[in-house]
Amino acid sequence: AIRVQHVFHHFAATPVLNDVCLEVPKGTIMALLGPSGCGKSTLLKLLAGLLHPDAGQLFFGEQKVVDGRFSLPPEKRDLGMVFQDYALWPHMTVAQNVAFPLHMRGVRVSERQRRTLEALDRVGLADFGPRRPSELSGGQQQRVALARAIVAEPQILLFDEPLSNLDRNLRESLCEEMAVLLRQLGTTAVYVTHDPHEAEALAHGIARMEGGAIKRIDWLDISRVSPFVA
Ligand code: ATP
Ligand code: MG
Repeated sequence: AIRVQHVFHHFAATPVLNDVCLEVPKGTIMALLGPSGCGKSTLLKLLAGLLHPDAGQLFFGEQKVVDGRFSLPPEKRDLGMVFQDYALWPHMTVAQNVAFPLHMRGVRVSERQRRTLEALDRVGLADFGPRRPSELSGGQQQRVALARAIVAEPQILLFDEPLSNLDRNLRESLCEEMAVLLRQLGTTAVYVTHDPHEAEALAHGIARMEGGAIKRIDWLDISRVSPFVA
């Protein structure tokens, strides 16, 4: 579970997050929707540990992540991230990109190779390991970013508009694949998007953010609502 309690954040004189409270139960995917500039990416950065809030608490399960001056370092938060720009390292092969989180965690080479291949297989790119990111399409690059996010089987996944740079057809097919994959993994996830269809296809709940706070949460019956997921 992810628990965000009374979180505040400002940049210079501008308050951006203003008493954010959000609970994402274990194994559920929460879509985060809201107008541009309302603070969605800022909230994800706080969850990831790239920013520290002015006030408020953050818990992952029973673990305290942020409280007052205390902050669990990003590398100890056991999470994976996929952002709008795939941010793959251009000088590394696809396999090296995907293996990186395992490398960071000190997983030994043979195990690393096995799990890298498994993650690439999960996103339909089993044969792409030796290629460079520049030799891949946008959709393929985003799949690699997804493989890298899941390879270490983190407790929590954070997505910031991961499909918004792709064309409509690709967005729908990748969205469907991700919905299936995320359910298989049973990961707790926050998924920022501008696209209500994507949110309905993927998420268990939709949190609506406005003016730096969560205004309401709608829970979905995914089997009934989703246009993409059988
Ligand atoms: P979008 O849907 O356009 O991605 P968002 O909801 O993700 O928007 P944020 O990126 O969280 O919005 O930004 C919220 C507000 O904080 C914006 O007004 C933005 O200009 C401001 N902001 C974000 N990052 C910084 C920063 N590093 N320094 C100063 N202001 C920032
Ligand atoms: Mg954003």
